[in-house]
Amino acid sequence: MTTPDSPHRLDKSVSSALPSSKMTLGEWQSIIQTMYSRKDETRGVDGTFMWFMEEVGELAAALREGSPDELAAEFADVLAWLATLANISDVDLERAIRLKYGNGCPGCGQSVCRCDMAEKP
Ligand SMILES: [Zn+2]
Repeated sequence: MTTPDSPHRLDKSVSSALPSSKMTLGEWQSIIQTMYSRKDETRGVDGTFMWFMEEVGELAAALREGSPDELAAEFADVLAWLATLANISDVDLERAIRLKYGNGCPGCGQSVCRCDMAEKP
């Protein structure tokens, strides 16, 4: 769950700014850039990373005992904070993912991973 003072607290007014249909990861990153970049740049990478990790912890808790709605909200928060970190680190997430995973598993090159279970793919 998002803490009340979290700068990424979901706001009902934000939902009206979001596209109602599908969006690409690039569009998502751009929305987060518009929504939060001024605050995020002021906070810096170190402070933003701490918020990101807090959200990862909240996702862990929701995976263990959250309702389906709480779980979905925590996934959204983690993705939002990851996009924020990418924005202030000048990383284009869509490009990064295409480069690393666009031709299959980075370990074995297959579209269905065949790496040994003991290996990190
Ligand atoms: Zn693999």
